Amino acid sequence: MLENEVESHFAELEKNGADKAVIGSLRQAFSRLSDKAKRDPKTLLYNAERLFFHLDEFLKLAADHDNEVSVLMADIDHFKQFNDQYGHIRGDDALKIIASTITGAVKQSDVVARYGGEEFAVALPQTGSAQALEIARKVRSRVENTIIPSANDRRTVSIGVFTYNVGLDELLRTEHKKIESGKEFYLPASVINAADIAMYNAKQKRNCIVVYEPGMQMPNKRDAPSQGSEK
Ligand code: GH3
Ligand code: MG
Ligand code: MG
Repeated sequence: MLENEVESHFAELEKNGADKAVIGSLRQAFSRLSDKAKRDPKTLLYNAERLFFHLDEFLKLAADHDNEVSVLMADIDHFKQFNDQYGHIRGDDALKIIASTITGAVKQSDVVARYGGEEFAVALPQTGSAQALEIARKVRSRVENTIIPSANDRRTVSIGVFTYNVGLDELLRTEHKKIESGKEFYLPASVINAADIAMYNAKQKRNCIVVYEPGMQMPNKRDAPSQGSEK
């Protein structure tokens, strides 16, 4: 890890008698820089790379302790239309406000990330499916009720939910697993992929939640609205 590498250089400099105050300031500056590198500059949420890092940790812990991890994937509905109507600067305001609305609806130990343009992912450690659905409901309804002041308008989100239980998943194909020290782990990408499939099914209706079910596929554009969705 880069942080450990830099710290070992600082320690080396200290050992060689470098000024302690200068090293202290460098350490602080590096720590700020390192935090910045983990975040999306617009919303200040974690970036996708950091999400994968945390999800990997959560999945390993779940495999070791036989507990669960859930992931929410939330995509803003009709966001292009919002930009078209109010401009990109107000669009950015909407992104920031929705980011903090999502953060406010989850625990501090949960990892909220800006996955892409107007897509947010939340990794929920030690969270089973019933609890994940409750959190998704809270996120959906809070976003729906949040006014973006600069536009005096609001947006909604479509949310996909996936819960990983050890030993209970047909997603367990080899391309979704990795083996470390003789143990099998799910890859963060497979978990994100499942939440994404559920989210695209929610998009068939919008402003709703779809929970991933075994065998669920990406919706075909010609399909009718998803059956498994709920507000
Ligand atoms: P859907 O309900 O199907 O998700 O429709 P949508 O319009 O939200 O989805 P689409 O993928 O068509 O458009 C996404 C929009 O998000 C278009 C893009 O300009 C906007 N967007 C992505 N990143 C940013 C950003 O950083 N700032 C602003 N203002 N807009 C962004
Ligand atoms: Mg969208
Ligand atoms: Mg999108």
